[in-house]
This record gives sequence, structure tokens and C-alpha cells, in this order.
Amino acid sequence: MKRRRLFSLMAGCLLLSGCRYQNAEPSPMPESGQYAVQDRFTQMKANTRTVPIQDLYLPAQNSKQRAGKVTHVMVHFISNAAEKPQNPYDLNDVYQLFVKTKVSAHYMIGRNGEIYRLVSEDRVAYHAGQGNLPGFPEYRNHLNEHSIGIELLAIGTSDEMQSMMPLAKYGTIAQTNIGFTDAQYRSLNRLLNAILSRHPAIQRDRKHIVGHNEYAPGRKKDPGKLFDWSRVQVSPAAGGIHTVQKGESLWLIARKYGTSVQSLAKWNRIDPNVDLYVGQQLKIP
Ligand SMILES: [Zn+2]
Repeated sequence: MKRRRLFSLMAGCLLLSGCRYQNAEPSPMPESGQYAVQDRFTQMKANTRTVPIQDLYLPAQNSKQRAGKVTHVMVHFISNAAEKPQNPYDLNDVYQLFVKTKVSAHYMIGRNGEIYRLVSEDRVAYHAGQGNLPGFPEYRNHLNEHSIGIELLAIGTSDEMQSMMPLAKYGTIAQTNIGFTDAQYRSLNRLLNAILSRHPAIQRDRKHIVGHNEYAPGRKKDPGKLFDWSRVQVSPAAGGIHTVQKGESLWLIARKYGTSVQSLAKWNRIDPNVDLYVGQQLKIP
């Protein structure tokens, strides 16, 4: 991608909208130059056939080698809204925010569901910073070492954004740029499936798949009130089987698991136009 844009001195005091990483841990230079990713990437590709991922690696100084076990996933939002409220999702701008502030996440999901890999999973990304997760006192201020960070390109409520931008500026943001998109939930679920298949210590529940605001409630608002956790596949049926609940449609179930009605119908050899019944068991592709 192009990265030729010159940034004004303003960039030095840019606020990451949602993730203001000023308290993120220091970022020691782990090694000189770029780290070798090719072998790992080739292997990863084989494991994530259904999750197309575009490599958009950050410089090596935005991460460090990982030693600890990966047990958690943390969800964030980020944008360049503080600088450009009317064009908050320019990929180059957001990439440069990471570079300038020497912070990072492993993945970023765009508005259309496109997934970018910023840091290899076997390296520590600087996304969680200082904080404390209920139930995991040993991770106090050290969750980066044990987690994978996923940034969604999104903007929260005016309340959540007020520390980053005045209300008048927030008011210029297009409504369609606020909150999260269907495509993002779909991609997030697919990405989670792939991540969890590689890290069995990440249990598929809300204790292990968390939001930044749950780890650092005093200083972080993301992913915030507009993020619908019920659309994240955090407690799916064991063994890839979903038992139909009252009020559920094929469409709702497909959305929950990040798949399509057509795919669900095909896998289960059912007519997508026929109503489901409570207790019916569906295989999840
Ligand atoms: Zn965050």
C-alpha cells in the first residue's frame, strides 16, 4: 500500500480515536529490521482458508517476541476521526497512527469486513496497555503478553469519543461511520474461529474474549456501547452444533456464526425457506 503521505506535525499529538495508547507499554526494539514472517504466514494461510487476510505488517518496533501463552482475545475500535471526522477510515492514515505512536494490534477489520494482519500472532502487540482483568490478577498490566488484539475500524458514541474530540466535531461524522457494520461482525466471527483453532487455551467465553474497556475501564471506552456482544460467537454449541432457540431464524443463526443462510441450509440439507423448530440441531459450517 502507499505510505507516502507526509504527516503534519499534528501527527505527533494525534489521538487514536478509541484507543489512546499513551499508557500502552513501552515498545522495546526487539530486533533490527523486519522480522521473518514468510514461513509462519504460509502455515497460517493453510489454517485459515476461509478467512482471507491481507498482510499489512507494522514495523518490528511496534511489537516484540512472545514468550507467554496466549489465553485471551481483546476487541478494540480505532479510527482517525479526531483528525479527519469526515474521512475517519483511510487505511493509510490509521496505519500511520499505529506507526507514529508505536502501538499495534494483531488484526484490523475494515468497514466492509476486510481483515488486515498487522502483527504476527507469535509476537506481542501493544494494544492492551495498563489494566486489570477480573479473574486474572496475574495479568495485571501484562495482558499484551497473553492476548491477541483485534481492532475494528469504528467510532463509538459521542460520550465515548468526547475525550478525543469536541461534540461539534463529532457531529460532523456521517451516521454510517458510527458503530459497527454487519460485515465486521461476520469477519470477526470468522477470524475468532481461526484464532481459537490455533490457540486452544483461549476459551470461547466472555472471560477470555474481552473488550478493552473491560480491562481498563477507567481510561478506555472501546469497543463501547455500540458493539453488540450478542453478535460475537463467544458461546457456540459444542462440537459445532447449534440447538435452535425460540425466536431464532436461519438468518439470525447464520449472522451469529458469521456464515450465510445458504451455507447453513446446504450443510444441514434443509430448505432455507422452511421454518426451524425449537430444539432442532444444526451443524455449523
Ligand atoms: Zn482499545
